[in-house]
This record gives sequence, structure tokens and C-alpha cells, in this order.
Amino acid sequence: MKAGYVALVGRPNVGKSTLLNHLIGQKISITSRRPQTTRHRIHGIKTTEAGQAVFVDTPGIHASQKRAMNRYLNQTAGSALLDVDLIVWIVDRPAWLPEDELVLERIKDSGIPVILAINKVDRIEDKATLLPFLESAQALHPFMAMIPISALKGGNLDVLERQIMKLLPEGEPIFAEDQLTDRSERFLAAEIIREKLLRTLGQEVPHALSVEIEQFKVEGNLTRIAALIWVERDGQKAIVIGHKGEVLKKVGERSRLDLERLLDGKVFLQLWVKVKENWSDDERALRSLGYAE
Ligand code: GDP
Ligand code: MG
Repeated sequence: MKAGYVALVGRPNVGKSTLLNHLIGQKISITSRRPQTTRHRIHGIKTTEAGQAVFVDTPGIHASQKRAMNRYLNQTAGSALLDVDLIVWIVDRPAWLPEDELVLERIKDSGIPVILAINKVDRIEDKATLLPFLESAQALHPFMAMIPISALKGGNLDVLERQIMKLLPEGEPIFAEDQLTDRSERFLAAEIIREKLLRTLGQEVPHALSVEIEQFKVEGNLTRIAALIWVERDGQKAIVIGHKGEVLKKVGERSRLDLERLLDGKVFLQLWVKVKENWSDDERALRSLGYAE
């Protein structure tokens, strides 16, 4: 049997969390079009007849270290590279940004074997344009493999998975065979609510949001969840609530549907919005909201 840790790394927005969810077959890491959607390190566990791969989803590596939140994200992404057996480096088609360069440096420093996954190929009309990209990528680093994939559509993921298993060391399973993630339902619930906020609000309140679960009570087939949504300013609170509470209501409805799927039962959800000034640049506030390594 094979067993080991696989880090999914790449700049923000290339599709790391989408890939994790597709490989595991369940949503355990939230996704959106916004960068900085993933803030925590999340393990997704895949057990097959060949062995067990423990995928480590990470926040993207950012160029800016200015705010405390960005420093936290880079630290989380960087420390994920310390203890893994294999790296899957995800790039977004032949779209090369300076931030990809930053990731390449980290990968080289780590000395860990790397598979290059070229994602979002479903968006490439002329597949022939991939060839020159693959050739130039080959010169960057001695990759174990270069695999074009579509994380969203599931394209070529079987090939990627086989390669991963092949490259993992021999070993006994690290987690129970039926375990899909190392995170609690409470944590996943907070993340689902944050995802619906990111998707419903669009550009308006980008990264000033955090969600804290105040109550998580299981009563038979019903789970009672009360959550606090933290924002940084009064104006943001008004946006999150919306005209006559419409935005918050929509977020609540969308969250509840996902939560009921996750928990396989009925959910009673209550949401509140509160202001905590500048929490994303305040180390102590970050820690109290669970952003600590
Ligand atoms: P992350 O920041 O690297 O974790 O990226 P996400 O997984 O959150 O994905 C960012 C955006 O890219 C989301 O809107 C995804 O739906 C989209 N996306 C991810 N993979 C693919 C893919 O294979 N094809 C297409 N067309 N979109 C994708
Ligand atoms: Mg992500």
C-alpha cells in the first residue's frame, strides 16, 4: 500500500480547492472567483485500493505581505510544503503571472518531487496551443510529470491520481479509510457560510469577512446553527444585510441548502452581522477568529 501527503500549491485562483473537492468527491474546501477564498490548511483524504493520499489544500502564495492576513496566508501556504511527500503545482492554462514565479522558487527550495498540473484546459479552444507551453515549462524544473487537467469538469483527473499514487512512498494508511477530511463539521459549516457570502456579495466586501459559529447543536435529525459574520466597518455591515435584509436572507438560504447536504438532515440557521474594526490586520483578532498556525 502507498500512503503519504500531497500538497496542492499554486498562486491564488488557479483551482486548487476545486481540484481537492473533485478528487475527494465531496465539497470540503470552499471555492469562488475571488482570490483568498481559502484561508486555512485543509486536509482531504482519499483512500483507494492502491493506497491513501492525504491532500493538503493551501491558500495561494501571495506577492503582498503587507497585511497581517496576507502574512498568515503565506505562512500557511509555505509551512504546508515542509512535511509532504509530493507537490502538485497547479497553474492556470498558459497564463503566466509573476506570482507563479514566486511559487516556483518555493518549490525549488523545498527539494520535494513535483507534478505540474495545467488546469482549466476546458477553456482552451485550440489544444495545440498547449504544446509550446509544455515545452517551455519543461525548462523550468525537472517535473516528475506534466498533466493537463480540468479540475472543474473532472478532465484527466484519473491520470493525475494514478501518477500521484505511483509517486507516494509505501506505508500504512494515516487516517481511517472512511475519513474524508481532518476538519470538523463546525469548521466546514463556517466555511460554507463564508463561501455563500463571497459568492453573493461579489466585489463589494471582498476580504473583510469572517464567520464564527456560536452554536452548533444536534437534536435528532435537526441541527441548530447560529453564526456571527464579522466585518470591519458599518458600511460593510449594511451591504451584508442588504435592503430590508434581502442579501443576508439569500446568503442564509443558500448556506442552509449546502449545510443540509453536508449534515444529511434539517438545518435551522441564524445569522448575525457584527463589526470588529480592522480585524484582518490585527494579529490578536486573527488568532481569536481561528487564523493561527
Ligand atoms: P484556488 O484559489 O486555487 O483554490 O481556486 P478555486 O478552486 O477557488 O477556483 C477559482 C475559480 O476557478 C473558481 O471560480 C472555479 O470554479 C474556477 N475553476 C477551477 N478549476 C477550473 C477548471 O478546470 N475549469 C474552469 N473553467 N474553471 C475552473
Ligand atoms: Mg482555494
